Amino acid sequence: MRRPSLFTAGELLKSGIVYLIGAGPGDPGLITVKGLACLRRAEVVIYDYLANPVLLREAPAAAERIYVGKRSGRHHRSQEEINALLVAKAAEGKIVARLKGGDPYVFGRGGEEALCLHRAGIPFEVIPGVTSGFAAATYAGIPLTHRDHTTSLGLVTGHEDPAKKMSSLDWDKLAGAVGTLVFYMGIANLPLIARELTAHGRPAHTPVAIVRWATTAQQRTLTATLGDVVEKAAKARIKPPAVIIVGSVVGLREELRWFDNRPLFGRRILNTRAADQAGELTALLEARGAEVIEAPTIELVAPENHDELDRAIAELETFDWLILTSANGVRCFFRRLAELGRDARALGRCRICVVGPKTAAGLAAHGLRADLVAAEFKGEGVVAVLADSDLQDKKILFPKADRAREVIPTELTKLGARVVAPVLYRNHVPAALSEAARAALEAGEIDCVAFTASSTVDNLAVLLGDEFAARMKGIAVAAIGPITSKTCRAHGLKVAVEPAEYTLEALVEGIVEYFGREV
Ligand code: SAH
Repeated sequence: MRRPSLFTAGELLKSGIVYLIGAGPGDPGLITVKGLACLRRAEVVIYDYLANPVLLREAPAAAERIYVGKRSGRHHRSQEEINALLVAKAAEGKIVARLKGGDPYVFGRGGEEALCLHRAGIPFEVIPGVTSGFAAATYAGIPLTHRDHTTSLGLVTGHEDPAKKMSSLDWDKLAGAVGTLVFYMGIANLPLIARELTAHGRPAHTPVAIVRWATTAQQRTLTATLGDVVEKAAKARIKPPAVIIVGSVVGLREELRWFDNRPLFGRRILNTRAADQAGELTALLEARGAEVIEAPTIELVAPENHDELDRAIAELETFDWLILTSANGVRCFFRRLAELGRDARALGRCRICVVGPKTAAGLAAHGLRADLVAAEFKGEGVVAVLADSDLQDKKILFPKADRAREVIPTELTKLGARVVAPVLYRNHVPAALSEAARAALEAGEIDCVAFTASSTVDNLAVLLGDEFAARMKGIAVAAIGPITSKTCRAHGLKVAVEPAEYTLEALVEGIVEYFGREV
């Protein structure tokens, strides 16, 4: 199938254009492919309170970002000002991404913005988004229609133009004719909604769900009936943004929940890995429902000089073994090889020993198969697999991290080998902890911190300084293996999770098990 062209007017004519983009309800994965493509081309991004700010990272770094968020009662900019801003930026010839929560044309005043652009003669396109009513239902486990329950669906605003009265709705028709009803902006008017629906014939036992901050880690769902929803919502102090879903389909949630019953849902976990390595652990934790806050405690930097490594690379073919103990090691080693104008052929007959499947996979990306893969994720594992080979007078190259333990060179030397161990990269402590991590730690909002190496513990202690002990209080500590655990204990931490196997997957399962036990 030919890929449809995603661009028209703005791209081709090089005139200004406004893309009214539906950002979706919160989960950044719910923006459309086309919406994302437009955002990535934007020169100006004008965004709302309900559009997930994470999406802003997708816009070019140089794009101007303008927040025009509105929260009920606290208008940041009036609609007229926003309209004028859209027109002005496009008139300058800019590609403008107008990022709006949910769908631009569902209670989002997108229609007003588009009319204004049309009248000003500004080209515009509208990219639909997943509206929060649909997404809230889906993520709460509620199919908005189901053959056994209803054949119709209504979307209603609970808080119309403040100048009008909500009671101007034709409640009789709404209550009587439409099966499932979804109210947006309805929290303030919940008593009126419940009263009118009941007064116009909906039984008091009709199921109701209120879904707040749908599709995000903060999603909370309250279920009730028309008869008791007002009382229950008041007790739970439900605040906007939330949608109210009314109809018997709500009852299906019990069986169809899938989002907020994942084992780590509602847990906030700090990921301390280096920024360029954090993704995998974050993805594994998120897949189990956790909210992950990345707090890189390590920055990988080049050694002060490469002299020792370069000397070894120059005579690489004289080595019998090359040992690489991490995917980073593989990356840095081959990067240096390339910088020296060489490639994998420089290894000649040199055999390769790595630690763990990830490192082996990193090696495979260079077209090389590891001769030995140590299963144990620490230096002892390498020594164990190599001990079966004759190491007498063998030359071994072990490019290492600056703070690597000495066990590999020491033990292999004892077995008769000549080990050369140049520094391949250094683990640095970053200048500061990420803003998100600092704020969450200060607010006591972190449930668990995951440490994947001793250096992540040491460095977090450095980054938090005097506050370390206080900030870590009450947080479950998960350590990837015994060495990391030992370092945790040396810093006065109690280790809650230590998996038997030293892999990220096992660490995550350990965390799942821990929280499963706790509740
Ligand atoms: N254009 C948006 C709606 C904007 S009106 C859309 O299509 O979704 C704002 C209302 O949307 C809020 O008062 C709330 O009722 C609803 N809403 C938006 N995001 C939401 C979310 N993540 N969870 C629950 N309701 C949400």
